[in-house]
Amino acid sequence: MEFKREIKYESELDKDFAHWITSLPAGEKMKECIQCGTCSGSCPVSVYMDYTPREIIGMARMGFKDEVLKSYTIWLCASCYNCTVYCPMKIKITDLMYELKQRAIREGYYPKRFTVPVMAKEFFKMVRSAGRSTESYLLLKTFLKSNPMKLLSMTSLGLKLFKSGRIGLKKEKIRSQKELNTILDSILQEES
Ligand code: SF4
Ligand code: SF4
Repeated sequence: MEFKREIKYESELDKDFAHWITSLPAGEKMKECIQCGTCSGSCPVSVYMDYTPREIIGMARMGFKDEVLKSYTIWLCASCYNCTVYCPMKIKITDLMYELKQRAIREGYYPKRFTVPVMAKEFFKMVRSAGRSTESYLLLKTFLKSNPMKLLSMTSLGLKLFKSGRIGLKKEKIRSQKELNTILDSILQEES
């Protein structure tokens, strides 16, 4: 995959975004990042990313909002915490990736047909309405909204999982949905 890089001038940077991320509890130490690249070197998936974790930290604190929120990197992050453990400045890179994902979803910035954010969104919708996710429906909705052709190629795997009882068609739900939604609402309110 080839990624396009463009020159950007300081006046085009989003200072509010830079202020937002550096004001978060996980972001306050970002300014101390020495751009050593240890995070990128220790990241098992950085080779697949459009921007390395080092670049994401550097760009986010400068205000490259569009580039950071539209990046594949934040969705490819597997939350393994390697970067966080090895960062010499103790920057909470993994937590920042989470913050960026949430903001990208809130503002509709994520790559629209990229499976990971679509699945995250569908998962949340399912939990919101039933308190649980039912894997078969989650996969179906995710692929229909991101890559319907992929769904066809996965039919035989789906059937195998169904036959072995690993996935089912019965929709799962909890009894205390109202209480769960109250908790979710308060979390969402805190974040906005
Ligand atoms: S390891 Fe830490 S200090 Fe080094 S580039 Fe990554 S975030 Fe910055
Ligand atoms: S937490 Fe994410 S960014 Fe950090 S090393 Fe793991 S996959 Fe890479």
